[in-house]
Amino acid sequence: MANVEKRLSGNVAGDFFVDSTCIDCDACRQLAPEVFTDSGDASIVFHQPANIAETRRALMALVACPTGSIGTLVPQNFRAGIDAFAMPIDENVYFCGFTSESSFGAWSYLILRPESEGGNVLVDSPRFASQLVKKIAAMGGVRKMFLSHQDDIADHARFADKFGCERIMHADDGAKRLGIEWIMEAADEVQIDRDLVAIPTPGHTRGHAVLLYKKRFLFTGDHLAWSAERETLTAFRSVCWYSWDAQIQSMEKLLNYNFEWVLPGHGRIHHDTSENMRVHLERCIGWMKARR
Ligand code: SF4
Repeated sequence: MANVEKRLSGNVAGDFFVDSTCIDCDACRQLAPEVFTDSGDASIVFHQPANIAETRRALMALVACPTGSIGTLVPQNFRAGIDAFAMPIDENVYFCGFTSESSFGAWSYLILRPESEGGNVLVDSPRFASQLVKKIAAMGGVRKMFLSHQDDIADHARFADKFGCERIMHADDGAKRLGIEWIMEAADEVQIDRDLVAIPTPGHTRGHAVLLYKKRFLFTGDHLAWSAERETLTAFRSVCWYSWDAQIQSMEKLLNYNFEWVLPGHGRIHHDTSENMRVHLERCIGWMKARR
């Protein structure tokens, strides 16, 4: 819980506030854009929640915040924020909330599937918070856990212990050292089961990979995201730790796949037709090549 003595001066007067421990991960601004805004290198509250829906979204941001940087001056019904996760995105795909500081607030997702289709899949690791763990258990647990890359693994080992799930990760991001059960070795795609394809996308890190579900949902880790500013798909040049040229090649590889959703660890989610996604992906590749 945030400390009122560390309350940032830019917060508008009122109950909700952000304190100086904010790491500027953007989660609150995505979840409650009518309440939180960017003030440079941190978020602040620019508009106090004015109705039940806005209060609920502000409480969801409070719960999702990786650093506990959002607080309230008077006690709130925090259950409203806790119970909102896992949050439905589309069909059987959910956002887990409860982001982890160790992965800089990266977003993780849950795919809900019956056992006959291979069971539930956790994509990257949320914080191992008891409220979320109980909720996931009630939703059927976790059969597989896909880890896009080494930065967003957070509490993967605790989830594997709790649910006995099989973890999938590429060898080039230290999968063996992490005790991963299913280690991807090559540069080629891996058909995980009927509906899941793992696609190695080196660039952000050497062993980065993305996950395609049902040719609709592309879980992109830190490889690809939507840019709200430029209103198109983008990659993150300043945090490309391995190779920008390799990331461009990986982006070109994705032209071979259809998808309608981009669900990243960092950056914004986007939904569009597969045809429009392709246009945005080509635009992204051109933008990347201009920044070699
Ligand atoms: S979710 Fe928390 S850490 Fe992230 S920008 Fe908001 S206040 Fe800062």
